[in-house]
Amino acid sequence: MPRSVKEWIGKNDDAKLPSSVKLRIVERQRDRCGICTRKFDSRLRPEFDHEVPLALGGEHRERNIRALCGECHRPKTKEDANAIGRARRIKQKTLGIKKPKQKSLGRWKRKVNGTVVLRDEEGERQRRMTDLEEKLTDEVIRLKKIIKQLKRSEVQLRNTVCSRKDN
Ligand SMILES: [Zn+2]
Repeated sequence: MPRSVKEWIGKNDDAKLPSSVKLRIVERQRDRCGICTRKFDSRLRPEFDHEVPLALGGEHRERNIRALCGECHRPKTKEDANAIGRARRIKQKTLGIKKPKQKSLGRWKRKVNGTVVLRDEEGERQRRMTDLEEKLTDEVIRLKKIIKQLKRSEVQLRNTVCSRKDN
């Protein structure tokens, strides 16, 4: 009968997975990635994954940990994050502690830090006026240039007409 080895169980969720246990997990999988089954070597190194994420009630123990190659581990991690987010949202909804959608507060506004303050209406009006004034000034400058050009053209025209008369 083969000598049975006691399963490693993390004392807490932050407990470091010992190298001896890492090796045991890899060998349990016959040196292959738990998903794509490619064989590990110096270029395809194992990464250790909680099959059921800790945040979803998975345990930090040997039988919930498997060895994956990086290519398989990345999408699994992403999938886990999505599942964790989903679970959290469902729980919040179930418990009625979901943040309500923020309604428009009219004359009040919510600052980034969450406090609600009276909208700075005077300040906003002032800013809008300044914007308008700047636009108007630009427009006036533009019109003045056009008038100058027209005057120049008028003078040229007069000169032409005069010189014709003279001839
Ligand atoms: Zn793989």
